[in-house]
Amino acid sequence: MMQISCTSCGTPYPPENLPYLCDACGGLYDFRIPLSFDPLQVDLSQPGIWRFRHTFGLSPDSRSVSLGEGNTPLVEAEVLGRQVAFKCEFLNPSGSFKDRGSAIMASWLQSRSVSEAVEDSSGNAGASFAAYAARAGIKARVFVPESASGPKRRQIEAYGAELVTVPGSRKDTAEAVRVVAGDGIVYASHAYLPFNLPGYATAAYEIYEQLGNKLPGTIVLPAGQGGLLLGLARGFDTLRIVNKIEDNNPRIIGVQANKCAPLWATYTGVSPKAGLGEENHTLAEGVNVCKPLRRDSVIRAVVESQGTICAVKENEIMAGRDALARLGFYVEPTSAIV
Ligand SMILES: [Zn+2]
Repeated sequence: MMQISCTSCGTPYPPENLPYLCDACGGLYDFRIPLSFDPLQVDLSQPGIWRFRHTFGLSPDSRSVSLGEGNTPLVEAEVLGRQVAFKCEFLNPSGSFKDRGSAIMASWLQSRSVSEAVEDSSGNAGASFAAYAARAGIKARVFVPESASGPKRRQIEAYGAELVTVPGSRKDTAEAVRVVAGDGIVYASHAYLPFNLPGYATAAYEIYEQLGNKLPGTIVLPAGQGGLLLGLARGFDTLRIVNKIEDNNPRIIGVQANKCAPLWATYTGVSPKAGLGEENHTLAEGVNVCKPLRRDSVIRAVVESQGTICAVKENEIMAGRDALARLGFYVEPTSAIV
């Protein structure tokens, strides 16, 4: 049964092609909530995220496109006198949590015989998509704003994807890729399409297992579109339902960069006129998203978890990165905002 439908008109995701918006009304597609999860269908013979494949909405006869993503370590350390566990998502194949979603995206593309697709990203999502397109033998074109950092561009190109640099802001990049998508090329968008969300939920299942079948008390994570946040919230929801856990979800704390903090601005009621919600230059380029597409769902998930959204100042970002590095965790500025 199709687990994906339009959030505006309810039309199920079509059995053919791969539209990024609802054909009927232009709305966003999303998975049914709660995620359809059957403990009896968890396949322990599969690696990483693929144990939970039945939650991904893929047709059962399609192949899995995998580079060994997921099953990342949870490493404990003491930070400011507190015991904190780090979920080391940089150990995924292309270096970020995005791989949990890209593996599923590439599997969808392959299952629908797509041979060429476009994507837009400021960095990790583009690199991740390029990696999995290479794995699946799909021709990838990745649009990036000219401000995207050099190492990410080189990584995208090294995977064999065509890199298209778009002058102007990230919004201009998104516009450029939508024009191409309008010409009939598949737009494998990690932001519009919901395929990555059950992939991010697998990180919640792993954390639960790694803590000895317990939910964490609080989880802190960077939020740009808020896809990781939403995926984890749904993963914890699913665990509570399946395991009949009466405790609340972990408190979810989404962290943004003050220079581009639309989720924080909405959550706290701060006027967006304060330069927030605008696209500015922040070192945390992975969360430089001025209009998160699933904003309302993300904020609802935070409120339901009794968590919060905060925004860090620019001069705190590198200090955070250095502090993490001194503990042995060498992460990029976007991850360091937590
Ligand atoms: Zn619709």
